[in-house]
Amino acid sequence: MAHVLVLNAGSSSLKFGLFVKGDEPQALATGLVDRIGGAAQLSLRNAAGERMLDLDLPPDQARDHHGALHAALAEIEARFPDAQVVAVGHRIVHGGRDFADPVELTLDVIAQLQALVPFAPLHQPHNLAGVQAAMAEFPHARQVACFDTAFHRSHPFVNDTFALPRAYYDKGVRRYGFHGLSYDYISGALRQMAPTLHAGRVVVAHLGNGASMCGMLAGRSLASTMGFSALDGLPMGTRSGQLDPGVLLYLLEQEGMDAPEISDLLYKRSGLLGLSGLSHDMRTLEASDDPHARQAIDYFTFRIRRELGGLAAALDGLDAVVFTGGIGENSARIRHAVCAGMGWIGIEIDEDANAQNATVISSDLSRVRVLVLATNEELVIARAAGNLAG
Ligand code: ADP
Repeated sequence: MAHVLVLNAGSSSLKFGLFVKGDEPQALATGLVDRIGGAAQLSLRNAAGERMLDLDLPPDQARDHHGALHAALAEIEARFPDAQVVAVGHRIVHGGRDFADPVELTLDVIAQLQALVPFAPLHQPHNLAGVQAAMAEFPHARQVACFDTAFHRSHPFVNDTFALPRAYYDKGVRRYGFHGLSYDYISGALRQMAPTLHAGRVVVAHLGNGASMCGMLAGRSLASTMGFSALDGLPMGTRSGQLDPGVLLYLLEQEGMDAPEISDLLYKRSGLLGLSGLSHDMRTLEASDDPHARQAIDYFTFRIRRELGGLAAALDGLDAVVFTGGIGENSARIRHAVCAGMGWIGIEIDEDANAQNATVISSDLSRVRVLVLATNEELVIARAAGNLAG
């Protein structure tokens, strides 16, 4: 039986999954190596999503992505000794202007992706390190890239550009948008379960540690809250979200910060963590009675509501809202705070359905359907890698 391995290498984590190849790939196991470079831990879940393993990695495996991948593969091989990996699908953050579809990772393609490192310096190198490691481990498997930017390549010019001199647009300074694999999954799920809504005007809120929203027309991305980098738009666990560029000038000129310090501030010390001074994690903030935790949650939901209005305007109206991601799928409180008082735009929530994390949480009277759908980026990658493997 042929199998597909999925790798999603982040800056300090590695998500992975083993799938049976087929028209609709079946997950045999999914896993995560967390805190690479520190006290790394490996966890594994079975096909039913139940935990099979939690393991502290020894220092030689915890040190870097190569070690983490070896540890992950050793577990997979021990549990699925007969797996025949014919394709490895990789999540690649940046596909630049040119990559709108999954593509086989030839040496030429890898060189093109390497050239995009300056556009995503914190993520692209890790993604490509995962590719190198997988090529060494599975020299006979097809290596396939799936891009977080690809779903947004359908943006019209007004949503692709900044109002800078043209030369910057030509150099690639554009609004790429991210979380594309998640939006791709949600678009496909909606097409299956509610084709009429899929054909209409939909705002998807992907709310996890990273958070963004996407306005879709007939299942394709028209606008996204993330732009040139994964910093823009909504506040996130540790990222600032939208910022007046004048703040950057102030930090440079008045506070004397250099680029690495600003990068550290905006990517790792801002967002929910920065505002609350407590945690990046929504569960911790929801459980806290600290007023700063409350303000961080209020800022988060305020920005989501603002973007919802903006995206609805970009779409010329609204037929459905979909919540997804760890917060979107699980936090009734956040969904309530986003949707409360939105009758003017046609949103009426059924509070019982919302409290139960039901699939449909809008009331029968609501003109706009509000849904909660679990995203599955790994499945999107497994499908694409399996298809390209033939
Ligand atoms: P990532 O972007 O790393 O994939 P996730 O999509 O897993 O992140 O989302 C993680 C976020 O989801 C965390 O802030 C976590 O607290 C939040 N979350 C998970 N479950 C709940 C819950 N039951 N209530 C509120 N927030 C939750």
